[in-house]
Amino acid sequence: FQVFLAPITAAEKDISGVLGVFHDITTLQNLHDRQADFVANASHELATPLTAIKGFAETLLDGALAQPELSEKFVRIIYDEADRMHRLIQDLLQLARLNAQEYREQIKLEQVLVEPVLTAAKQDMAPRWQQKNQLVSIASDQDDLAAIAHPDWLKQVIANLLENSIKYTPAGGKITLQAWHSNDQVKISVKDSGIGIPAKDLPLIFDRFYRVDRARARTAGGTGLGLAIAKFIVEMLGGRIEVESVVDVGTTFIITLPASEKRS
Ligand code: ADP
Repeated sequence: FQVFLAPITAAEKDISGVLGVFHDITTLQNLHDRQADFVANASHELATPLTAIKGFAETLLDGALAQPELSEKFVRIIYDEADRMHRLIQDLLQLARLNAQEYREQIKLEQVLVEPVLTAAKQDMAPRWQQKNQLVSIASDQDDLAAIAHPDWLKQVIANLLENSIKYTPAGGKITLQAWHSNDQVKISVKDSGIGIPAKDLPLIFDRFYRVDRARARTAGGTGLGLAIAKFIVEMLGGRIEVESVVDVGTTFIITLPASEKRS
């Protein structure tokens, strides 16, 4: 609480009371703390690959360049870490853009056919699921199922969820993208037969930079921002996102969006 006190003086100089104004700044303080945490986390996430880049570049300059095999290995690490920083910065910029109110206000929601979005996300990600020999299937209860959304942002959400399913599902696993109409809403689910998420972690996975298993998520190439971005977008589109998961069985993310009345 921020407290302002002022004496109340009645006739001339007698103090007859005290006026107190209590201003609850808890929300403001929380926001401030969260922003400070975010900056600290983001800096740490950027510093980790940078330290590796510097270290390996130094080792090369200190003589490792003379050994071709070692050089190639180190340059590969430098490339991978730079790539990781690049992806992280792209995610951070995207979050910053979404956070800007002026940007959100200018986004026009429109009727979006769901199936083409699912198909496009599946195709864009083909090199990854093919490499892991995974089966990605699409099921929709009607061809012309439409939501009120934004095509690019909806695709981004599906891409983030699909990317996670591919990452956290072993080779040969199964991923299903499904869409159906329910009351005046459209539901879209991304279901995988992957490693699953422990119940205690479920409430935290949408937090920025939260990962269930840091080491595993890092080797899988994650930035820790994918789900935070997905949730932000879904809420911006007036919908919600939920998750169900069983360890070693699989995970299902379900998005709910307003349905479009007009069918094309
Ligand atoms: P990351 O870039 O690390 O994947 P995300 O924000 O996309 O970050 O996801 C947060 C964490 O949630 C991941 O690190 C992972 O532990 C867990 N997770 C997300 N999707 C899945 C999934 N489909 N199966 C298992 N774990 C998942």
